[in-house]
Amino acid sequence: KPKAPFAPAESLEEALQILGKTLEKEYISIEKSVDTSLRVVGVSNELSQVLINLLQNAKDAFKQQAYEEKSIRIAMKRSDDSVLIEVEDSAGGIENGVIDRIFEPYFTTKHAAKGTGLGLFMSKMIIEKSFGGTIEVGNGEKGARFTIKLPLEHPSE
Ligand code: ADP
Ligand code: MG
Repeated sequence: KPKAPFAPAESLEEALQILGKTLEKEYISIEKSVDTSLRVVGVSNELSQVLINLLQNAKDAFKQQAYEEKSIRIAMKRSDDSVLIEVEDSAGGIENGVIDRIFEPYFTTKHAAKGTGLGLFMSKMIIEKSFGGTIEVGNGEKGARFTIKLPLEHPSE
Protein backbone atom coordinates (compact mmCIF):
# COMPACT_ATOMS: atom_id res chain seq x y z
CA LYS A 1 0.00 0.00 0.00
CA PRO A 2 1.30 3.47 -0.85
CA LYS A 3 1.85 6.01 1.86
CA ALA A 4 -0.49 8.98 1.96
CA PRO A 5 -1.53 11.74 4.34
CA PHE A 6 -4.27 10.72 6.77
CA ALA A 7 -5.72 11.60 10.16
CA PRO A 8 -4.57 9.31 13.00
CA ALA A 9 -8.02 9.99 14.49
CA GLU A 10 -9.43 7.78 11.70
CA SER A 11 -7.12 4.91 12.62
CA LEU A 12 -8.31 5.23 16.20
CA GLU A 13 -11.96 5.14 15.13
CA GLU A 14 -11.26 2.00 13.12
CA ALA A 15 -9.53 0.36 16.09
CA LEU A 16 -12.42 1.26 18.39
CA GLN A 17 -14.93 -0.03 15.87
CA ILE A 18 -13.21 -3.39 15.91
CA LEU A 19 -12.65 -3.65 19.69
CA GLY A 20 -15.40 -1.38 21.05
CA LYS A 21 -18.03 -4.08 21.61
CA THR A 22 -15.57 -6.36 23.41
CA LEU A 23 -14.39 -3.55 25.68
CA GLU A 24 -18.00 -2.62 26.44
CA LYS A 25 -18.86 -6.20 27.34
CA GLU A 26 -16.04 -6.22 29.87
CA TYR A 27 -17.10 -2.85 31.33
CA ILE A 28 -13.94 -1.12 30.20
CA SER A 29 -14.62 2.54 29.53
CA ILE A 30 -12.76 4.67 27.03
CA GLU A 31 -11.90 8.31 27.69
CA LYS A 32 -10.94 10.06 24.50
CA SER A 33 -9.43 13.43 23.84
CA VAL A 34 -8.65 13.61 20.16
CA ASP A 35 -7.54 16.34 17.77
CA THR A 36 -9.14 15.21 14.50
CA SER A 37 -7.40 17.91 12.45
CA LEU A 38 -3.90 16.39 12.74
CA ARG A 39 -2.37 14.64 9.71
CA VAL A 40 0.55 12.24 9.34
CA VAL A 41 1.96 10.37 6.34
CA GLY A 42 1.77 6.58 6.14
CA VAL A 43 -0.75 3.77 5.89
CA SER A 44 -3.80 4.27 8.10
CA ASN A 45 -4.40 0.52 8.58
CA GLU A 46 -0.94 0.05 10.01
CA LEU A 47 -1.59 2.60 12.73
CA SER A 48 -4.96 0.95 13.43
CA GLN A 49 -3.12 -2.32 13.89
CA VAL A 50 -0.81 -0.75 16.47
CA LEU A 51 -3.71 0.80 18.38
CA ILE A 52 -5.67 -2.47 18.31
CA ASN A 53 -2.68 -4.20 19.84
CA LEU A 54 -2.37 -1.61 22.62
CA LEU A 55 -6.09 -1.82 23.41
CA GLN A 56 -6.04 -5.62 23.31
CA ASN A 57 -3.07 -5.66 25.70
CA ALA A 58 -4.91 -3.31 28.08
CA LYS A 59 -7.97 -5.55 27.94
CA ASP A 60 -5.81 -8.61 28.73
CA ALA A 61 -4.19 -6.74 31.64
CA PHE A 62 -7.60 -6.13 33.24
CA LYS A 63 -8.22 -9.89 33.14
CA GLN A 64 -5.44 -10.50 35.66
CA GLN A 65 -7.61 -9.44 38.61
CA ALA A 66 -10.86 -7.72 39.45
CA TYR A 67 -10.48 -3.99 39.12
CA GLU A 68 -12.91 -1.47 40.52
CA GLU A 69 -12.31 0.99 37.78
CA LYS A 70 -11.51 -0.25 34.31
CA SER A 71 -10.69 2.58 31.98
CA ILE A 72 -8.42 3.38 29.09
CA ARG A 73 -7.48 6.99 28.44
CA ILE A 74 -6.57 7.89 24.90
CA ALA A 75 -5.13 11.30 24.06
CA MET A 76 -4.13 12.55 20.63
CA LYS A 77 -2.64 16.00 20.37
CA ARG A 78 0.04 18.05 18.72
CA SER A 79 3.39 18.42 20.44
CA ASP A 80 5.96 20.48 18.53
CA ASP A 81 6.32 18.85 15.10
CA SER A 82 4.74 15.57 16.16
CA VAL A 83 1.43 13.97 16.83
CA LEU A 84 1.46 12.56 20.34
CA ILE A 85 -0.76 9.56 20.99
CA GLU A 86 -1.04 8.35 24.58
CA VAL A 87 -2.80 5.15 25.58
CA GLU A 88 -2.98 4.69 29.35
CA ASP A 89 -4.89 2.01 31.23
CA SER A 90 -5.82 1.55 34.88
CA ALA A 91 -4.85 -2.12 35.05
CA GLY A 92 -2.02 -1.83 37.58
CA GLY A 93 1.02 -1.27 35.39
CA ILE A 94 3.99 -3.38 34.35
CA GLU A 95 6.68 -4.94 36.54
CA ASN A 96 10.33 -3.96 36.10
CA GLY A 97 11.54 -7.26 34.65
CA VAL A 98 8.73 -7.13 32.11
CA ILE A 99 8.83 -3.49 31.09
CA ASP A 100 12.49 -3.74 30.04
CA ARG A 101 11.74 -6.56 27.60
CA ILE A 102 8.32 -5.55 26.37
CA PHE A 103 9.34 -4.71 22.79
CA GLU A 104 11.44 -7.88 22.29
CA PRO A 105 10.11 -10.36 19.71
CA TYR A 106 8.36 -13.37 21.31
CA PHE A 107 8.42 -11.83 24.78
CA THR A 108 5.10 -12.61 26.43
CA THR A 109 3.79 -13.28 29.92
CA LYS A 110 0.64 -14.86 28.49
CA HIS A 111 -0.23 -18.50 27.82
CA ALA A 112 1.02 -19.81 24.49
CA ALA A 113 -2.47 -19.88 23.02
CA LYS A 114 -3.18 -16.26 24.06
CA GLY A 115 -0.06 -14.32 23.30
CA THR A 116 2.64 -14.59 20.67
CA GLY A 117 4.75 -11.80 22.11
CA LEU A 118 4.94 -10.23 18.69
CA GLY A 119 2.35 -7.49 19.16
CA LEU A 120 4.57 -4.79 20.61
CA PHE A 121 7.58 -5.84 18.55
CA MET A 122 5.54 -5.42 15.37
CA SER A 123 4.03 -2.20 16.68
CA LYS A 124 7.50 -0.74 17.25
CA MET A 125 8.57 -1.81 13.75
CA ILE A 126 5.58 -0.10 12.19
CA ILE A 127 5.96 3.12 14.17
CA GLU A 128 9.71 3.40 13.58
CA LYS A 129 10.18 2.02 10.06
CA SER A 130 6.91 2.98 8.44
CA PHE A 131 6.20 6.33 10.13
CA GLY A 132 9.63 7.44 11.30
CA GLY A 133 8.19 7.82 14.78
CA THR A 134 8.82 6.45 18.26
CA ILE A 135 6.92 4.34 20.78
CA GLU A 136 7.73 4.30 24.49
CA VAL A 137 6.31 2.61 27.54
CA GLY A 138 6.11 3.71 31.15
CA ASN A 139 3.92 3.32 34.19
CA GLY A 140 1.32 5.99 34.81
CA GLU A 141 -0.71 6.58 37.95
CA LYS A 142 -2.90 3.49 37.68
CA GLY A 143 -1.45 1.44 34.87
CA ALA A 144 0.68 1.14 31.78
CA ARG A 145 1.13 4.15 29.55
CA PHE A 146 2.24 3.93 25.92
CA THR A 147 3.36 7.07 24.12
CA ILE A 148 3.57 7.18 20.34
CA LYS A 149 5.12 10.09 18.48
CA LEU A 150 4.55 10.49 14.74
CA PRO A 151 5.99 13.23 12.53
CA LEU A 152 3.30 15.67 11.34
CA GLU A 153 2.56 15.93 7.62
CA HIS A 154 3.21 19.69 7.67
CA PRO A 155 5.60 20.30 10.57
CA SER A 156 6.06 24.04 10.37
CA GLU A 157 2.42 25.13 10.15
P1 ADP B 1 1.40 -10.49 23.76
O1 ADP B 1 0.20 -9.59 23.90
O2 ADP B 1 1.23 -11.51 22.69
O3 ADP B 1 1.84 -11.09 25.07
P2 ADP B 1 2.85 -8.04 23.27
O4 ADP B 1 4.10 -7.80 22.54
O5 ADP B 1 1.64 -7.35 22.79
O6 ADP B 1 2.64 -9.61 23.24
O7 ADP B 1 3.05 -7.71 24.82
C1 ADP B 1 4.16 -8.27 25.51
C2 ADP B 1 3.92 -8.33 27.02
O8 ADP B 1 3.88 -7.01 27.55
C3 ADP B 1 2.59 -8.93 27.46
O9 ADP B 1 2.64 -10.34 27.51
C4 ADP B 1 2.41 -8.31 28.85
O10 ADP B 1 3.15 -9.00 29.82
C5 ADP B 1 3.06 -6.96 28.70
N1 ADP B 1 2.07 -5.87 28.51
C6 ADP B 1 1.75 -5.26 27.35
N2 ADP B 1 0.81 -4.30 27.52
C7 ADP B 1 0.52 -4.29 28.84
C8 ADP B 1 -0.37 -3.52 29.66
N3 ADP B 1 -1.16 -2.59 29.14
N4 ADP B 1 -0.40 -3.78 31.01
C9 ADP B 1 0.40 -4.73 31.54
N5 ADP B 1 1.27 -5.48 30.82
C10 ADP B 1 1.33 -5.28 29.49
MG1 MG C 1 -0.34 -8.09 22.46
